[in-house]
Amino acid sequence: METEASPTVLVVEDETAITDALKYAFELEGFGFESASTGRAGLEAARRLHPSVVVLDVMLPVMSGLDVCRQLRSESDVPIIMLTARGAEADKVAGLELGADDYLTKPFSIRELVARVRAQLRRSARAGSLANTAEVLRGGEIELDVDSHEVRLGGLLVDLRPKEFDLLESLMRRRGRLATRETLIDEVWGPDHFGATKTLDVHIKRLRQKLEPDTRQPRHILTVRGLGYKFVD
Ligand code: CA
Repeated sequence: METEASPTVLVVEDETAITDALKYAFELEGFGFESASTGRAGLEAARRLHPSVVVLDVMLPVMSGLDVCRQLRSESDVPIIMLTARGAEADKVAGLELGADDYLTKPFSIRELVARVRAQLRRSARAGSLANTAEVLRGGEIELDVDSHEVRLGGLLVDLRPKEFDLLESLMRRRGRLATRETLIDEVWGPDHFGATKTLDVHIKRLRQKLEPDTRQPRHILTVRGLGYKFVD
């Protein structure tokens, strides 16, 4: 949910000369600007700041930009633009396969990067307005109507408690992708909720009892061992 008026760009890059130049350019264009110099710091910043766009260098020390991309994409739909080294064709392909939305090859023009960031913002604004008109999430026999707060299984109303509904909505919005335990707890119970780990498992169990034909072999709400859950059609 975007509440601030101006969009914020998070740049994850260990070369301060580049970060400084980008900060100057983006602020001049009216963007909020944040930066991180390691992959880990970048991930933390993305979780904390909910930037509008992430610009991610592939060549980062310790945790590579590709690992950051994979992890970030498992948690968020934020547009990601990768910065790749000239000639590193494999990095571009890997980045796009891991869910990056676009890439630029170094050395790049800052104006070009600003234009690409704007293009990503237009795309996510369009996706957002589409999501506002189509308020029914579907997966297999399951339909979740965001407006009326109703869930149907094979056309029949299912009685869900409010947190069960929120949890199912969080899962279905990431259909086909991992929803980490942290993300689900954050979205459904809030970041300061203690003891939510057990609570999460109990709610998953109840959802399966209400929605799955066989709770021992779930078809839609899958466990991703050690990480979280995933909703599939
Ligand atoms: Ca770098």
